[in-house]
Amino acid sequence: MATATLHLPAGAITVDAAFREEVARLSGQPLELCFQCQKCASGCYPTQEGDYTPNEIMRLVQYGARDAVLGSRTIWLCTSCETCGLRCPNGIRIAEVMDTLKQMAAARGIAPAGETGPLFHNLFLSEIRAAGRVHETMLMLKYKLKTGNLFADMKLGWQLFRRGKLPLVPRLKKDPAVRRIFERAGGQE
Ligand code: SF4
Ligand code: SF4
Repeated sequence: MATATLHLPAGAITVDAAFREEVARLSGQPLELCFQCQKCASGCYPTQEGDYTPNEIMRLVQYGARDAVLGSRTIWLCTSCETCGLRCPNGIRIAEVMDTLKQMAAARGIAPAGETGPLFHNLFLSEIRAAGRVHETMLMLKYKLKTGNLFADMKLGWQLFRRGKLPLVPRLKKDPAVRRIFERAGGQE
C-alpha cells in the first residue's frame, strides 16, 4: 500500500491514495469534483459539533487521509438529511459518502473515544438484518443497556411511547430483498 505523510496546520497525517479510490467506488460519488465551495458545510447543523466540516471530510478523503477520516466524530454525527447533497453544485451526494465512511469504520472496529454512534449504527443494522425492519422499542432498550445510560431521556421516551412511536409489539417484515441487500453489501467490504 503506497502511503506518504502530509503536513497540515493540525499536524502530520498519513495519506493513502487507495483510500480515495475505495470511497469513490463504494459510495458511487464523483469525489474528484469537490472544489471546496463549502455550500455543504453551510447547511449542515449536526456535524458542527464534530471535528471536521463536511467539506473538510471531502478534502481529507481526496488527500487519502484514511486514519483521520475513519477516526473522525463528524461521520457519526451525520444524520443523512441530504441538505448538503441538494446544495452541492457538483451533484455530490455527501450523505452517501458519510454512510460509506461509517460502514468502513464499523467494519474495521474504529470508533472515536466516547462516541456512541458506532454502537447505535451496529445495533440498527443487526435489527434490520435479523427482522427486516427496526423494532424501535427493542433498539432503544439494547442501546440503553449497552451504554449503561438507562435513565437519560426518560421524559422524551415517555412522550414517544404515548404517541405510538415506541410500539411494544414488533411489526416484523421478513423480506428476501433485505437479505439480498446485505449479501451484496457484504461482498463489497
Ligand atoms: S447529510 Fe450529513 S453532512 Fe449532509 S447536511 Fe445532513 S448531516 Fe450534514
Ligand atoms: S458543496 Fe460539493 S463541491 Fe462544495 S465543498 Fe461541499 S462537496 Fe465540495
